[in-house]
Amino acid sequence: MARPSSTPRRTRSQLEVWKFGGASLADAAGISRAVALIGGHQGPLAVVASALGGITDLLLEGAAAATSGRDADARRAAAEFLRRHRDVARALIPAGPARRRLLATIDASAREYRELCIAIGVLGHLAPRASDLLVSRGERISASIVAAALSQARRRASFVDATDFVVSDDHHGGAAPNLAATGKLARARLRPLLAAGTIGVVPGFIGGAPDGSITTLGRGGSDLTATLLARALGAKRVVCWKDVPGILTADPRLVAEARLIPQLHHREAAEVAHYGAKVLHPRALIPIAGTRITLHVRSFIHPDQPGTEVSARKSLSEYPVKALAIVRGQAIVTVAGKGMVGVHGIAARTFVAVDAERLSVSTIFQASSESSIGFTLPEGEADRAVSSLKTAFRDELASGLIDNITARRGMAVIAVVGDGMVGAPGIAARVFSALADGGINVVAIAQGSSERNISFAVTADQATEAVRRVHDAFQLSKIGGGRAPAAPRTDVVLLGFGRVGRALADQIAAANGQSMVRVVGLLDRSGYIFEPRGISRRRLSDLASRKDAGALLADLGGRAAPSAEALAVMAGHAVSRPVLVDVTSEETNDLLRAALGNGFSVVLANKKPLAGSFDSYQQLLAASANGNCQLKYEATVGAGLPIIDTYHKLAETGDRVLRVEGCVSGTLMYVVSAVSAGKPFSQAVREAVEKGYAEPDPRDDLSGRDAARKALILARLLGYRGGAPTPDDLVPRKLKHLPLDQFMTRLAEVDAEWKTRVAQEAAKGRVLRYVVAATPRGVSARLTAVPTTSPIGALQGTRNLIAFTTRRYASEPLVVSGPGAGAEVTAAGILNDIYWLAQRSGPSTALGAGHRLLGSEGGR
Ligand code: ADP
Ligand code: ASP
Ligand code: MG
Repeated sequence: MARPSSTPRRTRSQLEVWKFGGASLADAAGISRAVALIGGHQGPLAVVASALGGITDLLLEGAAAATSGRDADARRAAAEFLRRHRDVARALIPAGPARRRLLATIDASAREYRELCIAIGVLGHLAPRASDLLVSRGERISASIVAAALSQARRRASFVDATDFVVSDDHHGGAAPNLAATGKLARARLRPLLAAGTIGVVPGFIGGAPDGSITTLGRGGSDLTATLLARALGAKRVVCWKDVPGILTADPRLVAEARLIPQLHHREAAEVAHYGAKVLHPRALIPIAGTRITLHVRSFIHPDQPGTEVSARKSLSEYPVKALAIVRGQAIVTVAGKGMVGVHGIAARTFVAVDAERLSVSTIFQASSESSIGFTLPEGEADRAVSSLKTAFRDELASGLIDNITARRGMAVIAVVGDGMVGAPGIAARVFSALADGGINVVAIAQGSSERNISFAVTADQATEAVRRVHDAFQLSKIGGGRAPAAPRTDVVLLGFGRVGRALADQIAAANGQSMVRVVGLLDRSGYIFEPRGISRRRLSDLASRKDAGALLADLGGRAAPSAEALAVMAGHAVSRPVLVDVTSEETNDLLRAALGNGFSVVLANKKPLAGSFDSYQQLLAASANGNCQLKYEATVGAGLPIIDTYHKLAETGDRVLRVEGCVSGTLMYVVSAVSAGKPFSQAVREAVEKGYAEPDPRDDLSGRDAARKALILARLLGYRGGAPTPDDLVPRKLKHLPLDQFMTRLAEVDAEWKTRVAQEAAKGRVLRYVVAATPRGVSARLTAVPTTSPIGALQGTRNLIAFTTRRYASEPLVVSGPGAGAEVTAAGILNDIYWLAQRSGPSTALGAGHRLLGSEGGR
């Protein structure tokens, strides 16, 4: 690529172009984070937005459904498109004219999509031109939302439609931009804006054909929009914010050992992209190759890290090979014939015939002899290539000069890339001996079209192993000092900082370094403390002791703010996979829904949000079903015991849980079993308080309300749709409304009553227990007499026991039993949920969390 002569030479501009990928703009929290990053930038800026994560696929799937007459699926796609964008708009923009305008744009776009799908359904066919029109709305809406969110954050920003200035050819679905024409229009359109200090927000991926129709630049095309814009405006640099730390030595989903490459030359990055590393669009480097514009691929999750610099520098000369790229789903097309040897022009005619079909060849392969020509292209295009070649070589096939034209599908092409390969002897030998050692059969080897890469084709099933072997052979895991890219952290915010909160903070701190979980925020009713880099163990314990002495967070260096506002502030920062842990005992349902809407996952020890009306319960579940957020609540029943987990495992394996029954209150267990064993009721209660089992006011436990909530949570898990049961109340009526100290002193008045009852049951071989039961149709919490020898009768201390009667465990229930109360075990239950969230997608795929893993994006 020549120096961009169309860019006027002038003093070096400070302009940057920032591109946010779909994985970054996945939801409201992601967009808030992008807005916060932009807000922290000084100097002129243009922003390129991809569609929200998954939206492009959704739009294409809906259209495909419409084409094949599955109208319900198409309608569902339109509804999902509408819902996701409306939710994001509502979460980001407060009610008012700006929100109304945005919602109207979203509605219109969804309606249009729906109408287009209906039209496609009638035609039964989706032309690339119509597909581009359909899919363009993903980027347009996303850019509108980003522009509105920036304005909301008081940054001057304005939506600029890419079709106003990205001039492309008419190759719908994979159009190539015209650099000169685009440059001119882009300058005219954007310079005045930028000069006025306004941020131009541009939808990526789309352009306009000469006939005025909308085109797309191929999957992942927003990267190309960004470099095009940078070239046109003579920007200093382009930053692509991604869900990976930068360009890695290999696709991290395939090679766990993949490492961040600190710097690549434009040419090397161009090859990596061209050969299918999804991290950059195959043609993204073309506009800026040979210029002084640098491109940075940086982590959206760790914006403080430098990422990969792609520039005109050369570095890492000790690594002749720097990266591996792979394209799957390829076919090798071969034109073969003994008669071809020495015949002039067969190769040229082959590529003319392919080009006439507007197919683009990814790699040309060397034949073992001169008697064949081979090349790869996407499998789906193989038939067209073969038939076009058969037409072109009709005479040669008839005369026997060419024996055969065939396609072999199911291939993957792997490229080994690095500038240092030029002149370094033995690179190819090292590649192929590594493959041979692994028993990998190389189907074809590419001609040295560039000295910067060696490409070879293997069958798809050997591709991953091949990449790993070559990665190993060149010790690519040592590049850049061999540091593993920062694994995603899980940032915990504690709502409430009482006994359980502190025990949890301690347990998190104790596991530090390995767990990648840290506490970044604390909320109480006065305000919040937020330290995005993590609150140190020492500070946490200092805060804990000062809170014990009665202080509130707002007075301990925190800020005064309502919790909802505090959460919005935190969500706007670069928090990584944030988790809100509710360890209060308040009605927090609304706040939790807001948190889920802001991209937090939620872990509950607090039962109340799940034990209110059925409507509020369902609303909470629905909020967590949106996007990537999760709701976990193991610690609400049985503290650290795996009760909810056991339920899910049974259900997942196809069993049906018919009844859950047992003792789920540590305090009631302690009191009732002590009384059954002969202790006076008043003394048992006092001990439960002293030992820290009971709530500060033991009436909260004795009333049975807390046990009833747990029972309700279990019943709802089983499908019960009603409200809470009326529990048996162990608080003597006459003592109900007394101040706590009087209640405690007068409790002895009921000791005799209890003693009599215990003796009556004992005579029948029974003991008293407080038992809850849940089924899909009902729920109860009762003081019951059970046989002394039954599992529940034998239960002692504060232990909990839960018995699952299921289809498979019908005659003898499955029992989970163990300590079910206390701050330590409750915290352990919470931590278990947090770890589950943290490990949801494993260390290497976590880099691409929430990201589609569909097909290759190897260009047109
Ligand atoms: P964006 O959100 O900007 O569109 P992409 O999803 O297109 O980002 O690109 C990032 C993804 O590319 C990563 O999640 C990763 O799985 C994949 N990938 C493939 N090869 C590489 C590589 N060599 N380096 C980094 N990421 C890679
Ligand atoms: N949204 C488009 C895609 O998913 C373009 C992009 O993300 O760059 O391919
Ligand atoms: Mg992409």
